[in-house]
Amino acid sequence: MSDFRGLIVAVSGPSGVGKGTVLARVEQLLEQANPGSVGHSISVTTRAPRGEEKDGVEYYFRTKEEFEQMIKDGKIVEYDKYVENYYGTPAEPLAEMVGKGQDVLFDITIEGSLALNRKFDVDTVTIFILPPTMEVLEKRLRGRGTETEDKIMKRLDQARSEIRRAGEFEYLVVNDDVDKAAREILAIITAEKLKASKNINTAKELL
Ligand code: 5GP
Repeated sequence: MSDFRGLIVAVSGPSGVGKGTVLARVEQLLEQANPGSVGHSISVTTRAPRGEEKDGVEYYFRTKEEFEQMIKDGKIVEYDKYVENYYGTPAEPLAEMVGKGQDVLFDITIEGSLALNRKFDVDTVTIFILPPTMEVLEKRLRGRGTETEDKIMKRLDQARSEIRRAGEFEYLVVNDDVDKAAREILAIITAEKLKASKNINTAKELL
């Protein structure tokens, strides 16, 4: 394991853009190169479990009161509301993973990514994933099958207002090809780790 602190890779983007698929590929590539180098943050949410989801696996499922208590106790580093429910990142496991040099990939809301960046600054890189065109995004949203026309239009409106905020992120990656997008994110991670501000001791040790 590296002597360096791990990197918090905070990724956001509109619903349907394929964040989950791209991040799964990034994780696979990172793990191949360096087994054990990726840490998993399990978020806390007030939404109900879906299907086979289990407490402590996909999420920690908590009541609104429990969630609010966790915020008061300082146990949540960032949180946001999404479709009437709270979602948040537990503080302690994240500090532990980054401290032991593991990179942690996040698929979280825009506010969540920006909050991690404010809080952890040099340990965080923010990436926004864009669709190649709005037509492709619409197709992907329709491809899910079950949504009504009204809901699809609402999601597209939501996507446009999110894309308007892309400039608040440090990097933009277009997901026109999962493998290409994943490799671009790996390149970003590599570049972040090579920043002089993070490696100045390596230079000092030579003298
Ligand atoms: P879902 O309910 O579909 O699992 O997730 C809904 C949204 O919540 C997704 O856009 C996901 O990115 C976001 N999300 C999941 N966990 C967190 C978290 O810990 N913090 C924030 N800010 N957003 C989260």
